[in-house]
Amino acid sequence: MDYLPLFFDLKNRPCLLVGGGTIATRKARLLAKAHAKIFVVAPEISAELQQIVAASGGQVFFETYRQAFIDDKVLVISATDIRHLNEQVASDCNARNLPVNVVDSPDLCTVITPAIVDRNPLIIAISSGGEAPVLARKVRTMLESTIPGGFGRLGQIASQYRDAVKKAFPDGETRRRFWESIIGGPIGEKIIAGDESVVDEIRAKIDAADCSTSGEVYLVGAGPGDPDLLTFKALRLMQQAEVVLYDRLVSTPILEMVRRDAERIYVGKRRSEHAMEQTQINQLLVDLALQGKRVLRLKGGDPFIFGRGGEEIDLLAANHIPFQVVPGITAASGCSAYAGIPLTHRDHSQSVRFITGHLKEGAVNLSWAEFVAANQTLVFYMGLTALEQICNELISHGKPVDTPAALIERGTLPEQQVHIGTIASLPKLIAGKEIHAPTLLIIGDVVLLHDRLNWYKPN
Ligand code: SAH
Repeated sequence: MDYLPLFFDLKNRPCLLVGGGTIATRKARLLAKAHAKIFVVAPEISAELQQIVAASGGQVFFETYRQAFIDDKVLVISATDIRHLNEQVASDCNARNLPVNVVDSPDLCTVITPAIVDRNPLIIAISSGGEAPVLARKVRTMLESTIPGGFGRLGQIASQYRDAVKKAFPDGETRRRFWESIIGGPIGEKIIAGDESVVDEIRAKIDAADCSTSGEVYLVGAGPGDPDLLTFKALRLMQQAEVVLYDRLVSTPILEMVRRDAERIYVGKRRSEHAMEQTQINQLLVDLALQGKRVLRLKGGDPFIFGRGGEEIDLLAANHIPFQVVPGITAASGCSAYAGIPLTHRDHSQSVRFITGHLKEGAVNLSWAEFVAANQTLVFYMGLTALEQICNELISHGKPVDTPAALIERGTLPEQQVHIGTIASLPKLIAGKEIHAPTLLIIGDVVLLHDRLNWYKPN
């Protein structure tokens, strides 16, 4: 390790900034955030910088730098583009063992400023020791997007209760368990999501000296297959849950993003092959949550679109188990985007229907008459087995035989295949081919845009 990361308490302490331009102003903003008393010396000082200094209780000096300026300071930052001046500031500070930072000159610094993710009171500092600042910034961007702003709020609320919790749980170990139950449990989750109605529950738990953890269920949509289509929230909950129930539609790369030590339970669901009945899945979610576990129910696409998510939360609600539903990109959106078929289009389609093509006792009983109108897009989920029946029904109800149709196989995955025809030709077209599930059927004039729009393949 070339540098030791430390967090510097600068509240009301005098810091010197040498330089009055844009970079000095940026550094002053940073110092102001840490509530430092800022002193600036430079022949010219920007108006904004002067304001920041005044607000900090410091002072500006329209002068050239002299050694005397570093007297009584706890930190010095040199933000000028004059090399010999920067060198002099650095050597004056070194003579007094005073921490000095010289912007863009790591060789003159004894302290360096990291890239910062600010979720006050949670502060994350990232540094490459000046070797690869772009890399450090990339890591910051990654963290910015995966750590929601609500983490800061959770930290602030925790700090309000700190003393009360210390009193209620004098023993360090129980206190830690209490905080884990809040921060990693349903109360913390709600606060992160912006719902502060649960703050009173913290008070109630403190008053009851209750450090038990209650379970919670996350019903998460994992999207159609490409892991890049997960939401930030899905990813965060995937890395938090202790047990995961997943089905066949969840792709392997996505499953690999679940917390390593989480218990994985396959609950199946292929046409005609059910590793576990739906009622058993519903009950298992309840049982695991009652054991105090954070349970992830990971589903393909969106949990509320042909996902039976509604049934699963019914039983949770009846048992008063806290749960969250995280939407996912549904197969229709994912497949259509990756196949270059817009679901609606000003000229071709003013509405879109998501339809289940699932056979019930060998038949697809649907409102066929409604589907024949022009200028709409029909998307059939689970429609492979009944493909021929679907096309025939549409034709016999009056849909033109040359209505374009596309079958998208393993949409959004690297193996994606798109088969294009019409409702008359598609069944024959795929008859001799080996088709891999899952597949999605899109019917309507928008399918014709496939050629034009599919010049670029994301995969
Ligand atoms: N909740 C899911 C749908 C579950 S029903 C969602 O919102 O996407 C299962 C059906 O979804 C499959 O039979 C298939 O029609 C469709 N499907 C899901 N993922 C798919 C994919 N990657 N490619 C094509 N179809 C997919």
